[in-house]
Amino acid sequence: MIHFPKPIQNLIEQFCKLPGIGPKTAERLVFAFLKWPQKNKQEFADAFSEINGSIIHCEHCFNISEKNPCSICADKARDRAKICVVAEPHDLAAIENTDEFKGLYHVLGGVLEPLYGVTPDKLRINELLAKVQKNNISEIILAFNPDMEGEATMIYLKNILQPFKKIQITRLARGMPVGSDLEYTDEITLTNALKNRREI
Ligand SMILES: [Zn+2]
Repeated sequence: MIHFPKPIQNLIEQFCKLPGIGPKTAERLVFAFLKWPQKNKQEFADAFSEINGSIIHCEHCFNISEKNPCSICADKARDRAKICVVAEPHDLAAIENTDEFKGLYHVLGGVLEPLYGVTPDKLRINELLAKVQKNNISEIILAFNPDMEGEATMIYLKNILQPFKKIQITRLARGMPVGSDLEYTDEITLTNALKNRREI
């Protein structure tokens, strides 16, 4: 095994912690970085430190934000009777980009994956229930990827939300290919999936 100077080895190891990056890719990234002019290296390093200190979770919807409450929760024009439940902040961003949904969000923090230790208590399900009990909600849209974990999570949520008779529980229309990612679905397909959402 090749031994690089410790700071380089360190950075390679940090890159390896990111999804989809193995040791070889990490090595390539670090060596590309080393070739950059000092100014670019500094901007890169600054961007990293900035994200560490300034990004927080909105305490209402749990989206990532610079402010608490986030700009969506703070927007008085949004329809507070509708909540769109998503797995991760990037799913929220995908829905928000369609410009079709004007309600509020709830970021669950993942999907149910019992084999990997993601059981209901690891997700923000109690927080969702508390929100539903406290507020006058008319519709909850379950916007999850149409894959096995997404489907299982939607069924679980539907069952625990069913006692709230006044709430309509909907899911995105089946326009999205099975196994696809909300994050990478084009805006037109996602807009149609939202427009044609149906009761689950
Ligand atoms: Zn928020």
